Amino acid sequence: MILILLGPPGAGKGTQAQRLEAKHGLVQLSTGDMLRAAVAEGSEVGLKAKVVMDKGELVSDEIMTAIISDRLNEADTKNGVILDGFPRTEAQAASLDEMLATKGLALNAVIEMKTDDDILVERITGRYTCANCGAGYHDSFLKPAVEGVCDKCGGTEFVRRSDDVAETVISRLKAYHEQTAPLLPYYRNKGILKQVDGMTGIDDVTRQIEAELQTI
Ligand code: ADP
Ligand code: ADP
Ligand code: ZN
Repeated sequence: MILILLGPPGAGKGTQAQRLEAKHGLVQLSTGDMLRAAVAEGSEVGLKAKVVMDKGELVSDEIMTAIISDRLNEADTKNGVILDGFPRTEAQAASLDEMLATKGLALNAVIEMKTDDDILVERITGRYTCANCGAGYHDSFLKPAVEGVCDKCGGTEFVRRSDDVAETVISRLKAYHEQTAPLLPYYRNKGILKQVDGMTGIDDVTRQIEAELQTI
């Protein structure tokens, strides 16, 4: 199964992708996580990407397509993937279609997580993740059962992203509306667009996604 989770920054793509991964044996491919790994390594791509990411703009289609193409050639993606954060432009969507076609694969569904912009600043500025296992949390909406201890791995170190600040969120939302939202009609025309209400609680969004997956 090849799924895309589509929605603005803070819509809950990463949160839901982690759940789908565990339940359906799919691999989450988060281009944001891949770029942050490249930044941490200090690779050439990472150095270029960091400047762009901190401004809340989009990294070039060439870089992004190359990153995803390499990743889809790795064996662990064979049983299916959840694309989280890719594609983000019409050019990336066209490249993805080509990549999948050469492998004899096709997209099964694109799930739009519909959210209003006004809730996203709070979602994003309250976000943090476990430094050890990457599990996602939120200051108000998703706290670990024991404060300061990761539910999944027991880790006690957490990290916040340098771009998760109110000033950058405005640019990221602008990039979403201008460059990513046009993908919605593109996938609707292909008949594979599903929509869920991303404004409800995390468990409710999971239930809505599972219900949509039953229909494919
Ligand atoms: P995205 O990957 O789309 O940018 P995340 O999954 O990282 O978004 O979610 C952003 C933040 O909001 C995280 O801190 C997460 O715990 C929290 N969150 C995700 N979904 C919901 C929801 N339905 N209701 C409240 N908070 C949520
Ligand atoms: P969020 O879901 O909160 O928007 P991501 O982790 O998906 O954040 O992405 C963080 C940043 O990485 C983006 O603001 C952008 O600069 C860059 N990025 C991630 N994926 C892509 C992509 N497919 N195309 C271009 N830039 C990307
Ligand atoms: Zn952890």
